[in-house]
Amino acid sequence: MLGLNTSIIGKVVIYYREVTSTNEVAKLGNFEEGTVIVADTQTMGHGRIGRRWESPPGGLWMSVVLHPRISTEDLPKLSFLGALAVVRTLSEFSIQGKIKWPNDVLVDYKKIAGILVEKRGDNVVLGVGLNVNNEAPENATSMAEILGTSVPLIEVFRALVTNLDELYKMFLSSPASLLEMAKKEMILGVPVRIIGDGEIEGIAEDIDELGRLILRLSDGSLKKIVYGDVSLRFL
Ligand code: ADP
Repeated sequence: MLGLNTSIIGKVVIYYREVTSTNEVAKLGNFEEGTVIVADTQTMGHGRIGRRWESPPGGLWMSVVLHPRISTEDLPKLSFLGALAVVRTLSEFSIQGKIKWPNDVLVDYKKIAGILVEKRGDNVVLGVGLNVNNEAPENATSMAEILGTSVPLIEVFRALVTNLDELYKMFLSSPASLLEMAKKEMILGVPVRIIGDGEIEGIAEDIDELGRLILRLSDGSLKKIVYGDVSLRFL
């Protein structure tokens, strides 16, 4: 019925009208690799560190269950994989998205999607929240807002699952080349503030082989920022 032609991601699709969070459902279950959990709405959608993710009907709220045999140091790359899949999907709808390290997709510096990779036991869960026809929160945007018309959600879902499947296969054969591809879509070379334990400012210069952000400080030295509980703000 969905007409998906993917080989890993989307072989099984489980649809809910409402869940607490698709990541929670995906993490707790015993699902085969590539299972997609998708819901019309999430009552407790969340970002990193439990920050709330608004998920009203009209948006695309989904999670993919993966069982990659990879080292934990490669896990952040799955977040870039999700972001790159969103960028590719948006471009199929003539929208140019850019990746904001480490886990967001922006259009004209407004957040249109968030990615959240979580792990519980053998379940690695890649969650994607994409504003499609829903009203986006302040300072965020949606596909419908950009295009000035609503978009068939099912078409966006199909495109995203197809892109995720393609990129996941690429990732399994070469995590490094996936990282290189994602880097090309990332906003780099601009001044940023990193907010974590404290605050630090610099130029977001590059991403290293483990997906860490390389920050150039005002004294010219370089500092690596680990993907984790830090937030990035553009200055
Ligand atoms: P960040 O990457 O900004 O540090 P998270 O990845 O933790 O934050 O995502 C949660 C944040 O995203 C929330 O605090 C809120 O500002 C924002 N947000 C919540 N819902 C949406 C949405 N549907 N679209 C865009 N941004 C959202």
